[in-house]
Amino acid sequence: MFFIFGIGPKTKVVEKKQFACPVCRTYSSYELKQQRNYFSLFFIPLIPLSKPKTAFVKCLNCSTDMPSNVLQHAQQKGPFD
Ligand SMILES: [Zn+2]
Repeated sequence: MFFIFGIGPKTKVVEKKQFACPVCRTYSSYELKQQRNYFSLFFIPLIPLSKPKTAFVKCLNCSTDMPSNVLQHAQQKGPFD
């Protein structure tokens, strides 16, 4: 019997909304993502090995990854709220 297993990060989208992106300076959609290491067997992530790491935000307009605290800034200064 041959097992293929490994440990790797798995990224999950936890939120999809809109924000004022500080990079491309437009009001666009973002994805809030969270990364976690999983033990996987046959390339299927089975067991979470760590607590969720710091979430990060990806702007879907310019595809820039940013720390999730840009959302607080964007909401404070949000021109469309
Ligand atoms: Zn952007």
